[in-house]
Amino acid sequence: MLHLEKSAAAFAEAQTLMPGGVNSPVRSYNRIGCPPPFIAWAKGSTICDIDGNQYIDYVGSWGPIIVGHAHPRVVKALQEAATRGTSYGAPTLIESQLAKLVKEIYPSIEKLRMVNSGTEATMSAIRAARGYTGRDKIVKFIGCYHGHGDSLLVKAGSGAATFGQPDSPGVTAGTAKDTLTVAYNDADAFRELMDRCGDDIAAVIVEPIAGNMGLVLPEEGYLQLLRDETQKHGTVLIFDEVMCGFRTALHGAQSIYHIVPDMTTLGKIIGGGLPVAAYGGRKDIMDCVSPAGQVYQAGTLSGNPLAMAAGLETLRLITEDPDYIEKACAKTKILTDGLKDAAAQAGAAVQVHRAGTMFSVFFSAVPVTNYATSEASDQDAFRRYFLSMLEQGIYLAPSQFETNFVSGAHSDEDIARTVKAAETAFRAARG
Ligand SMILES: *Cc1c(COP(=O)(O)O)cnc(C)c1O
Repeated sequence: MLHLEKSAAAFAEAQTLMPGGVNSPVRSYNRIGCPPPFIAWAKGSTICDIDGNQYIDYVGSWGPIIVGHAHPRVVKALQEAATRGTSYGAPTLIESQLAKLVKEIYPSIEKLRMVNSGTEATMSAIRAARGYTGRDKIVKFIGCYHGHGDSLLVKAGSGAATFGQPDSPGVTAGTAKDTLTVAYNDADAFRELMDRCGDDIAAVIVEPIAGNMGLVLPEEGYLQLLRDETQKHGTVLIFDEVMCGFRTALHGAQSIYHIVPDMTTLGKIIGGGLPVAAYGGRKDIMDCVSPAGQVYQAGTLSGNPLAMAAGLETLRLITEDPDYIEKACAKTKILTDGLKDAAAQAGAAVQVHRAGTMFSVFFSAVPVTNYATSEASDQDAFRRYFLSMLEQGIYLAPSQFETNFVSGAHSDEDIARTVKAAETAFRAARG
């Protein structure tokens, strides 16, 4: 059994200080039945808790840690930046350097702006799209997550397109009514929605590779349909690549599926573990943003020099070696092939999904293609599998609705150890 005594005590205290003891809900291990390990340090692919347990980390801070924890070059860049001051609230050269590199990697982005979180990036992209089109309504897909901005915290009750209901108390019905939702991968429902109200829709926002209902891939031709329909109605197509950007492929989902969106949001990897995100796209849309245009958006710490330094060094690391991401993808494939074999041997009915360096395991006998099929997966089997993996030193995302991440720091031995642990965990999952 895992020893988590110090974490348990720390969590008890944290619960008196912060809602649920955490600063972001999923960290609380709500459905798992053990305290969340409190982390003391991390290095490469290893993460260590305050009880001294070491794990192979597949959470990677929920995506950013593509080059591994505490990469020496990222640490050095941060140390040097810190000695020059932590924030000025004035333009710096490094902001343009990072912007230039992002533009090179994402040719669909003609201009961009740095913000501090993915939430800000999607919220600001939606505002710019509304300002540009002069329209109010937006479309999002059920089970896609775009941060916690009010107008994006909305889903519908069923697979049918319907006017939005707020997902969270505190989001007003007035805000929610401008967010239309439709099931992911349902081509007919989307076509019908656009036929009905396409000319009133400012933006369609989508995770082109969905990672927030577990990992769910777009079906053949689906993203092209979104491109064609939005073009037809003068609607801004926003690819939210905050999670899948730089890691499903270096140039993101838009390169894999050969789609040019009007706008893209990026986050997570772009800050190399510090708070950075960005939104960008067509010049005519981005020039609506203040002070070039009228759409207001600002940030005291936007383009922060420490955050820019970590982001720039991380993007340099994954571009200097042109095969960096490809190699990490190949390692991920070895892992998911191993997980499939292990599940088959244990007689566990699972769906193992992979996109580049992202993967997830659904305890489901049927294919998972949208939120409804993801939600129908067996949560108890997942919990038993998760706890067995944790006990064996494998740190996975503590929910079937979250994706796992492989970094360039994961070794062949890490992958082999993980597959070996999964053989035991899939047997444990059967209960
Ligand atoms: C994580 C995530 C966000 C939100 O980013 P934060 O930095 O947590 O605000 C938005 N969109 C997608 C696709 C994400 O995965």
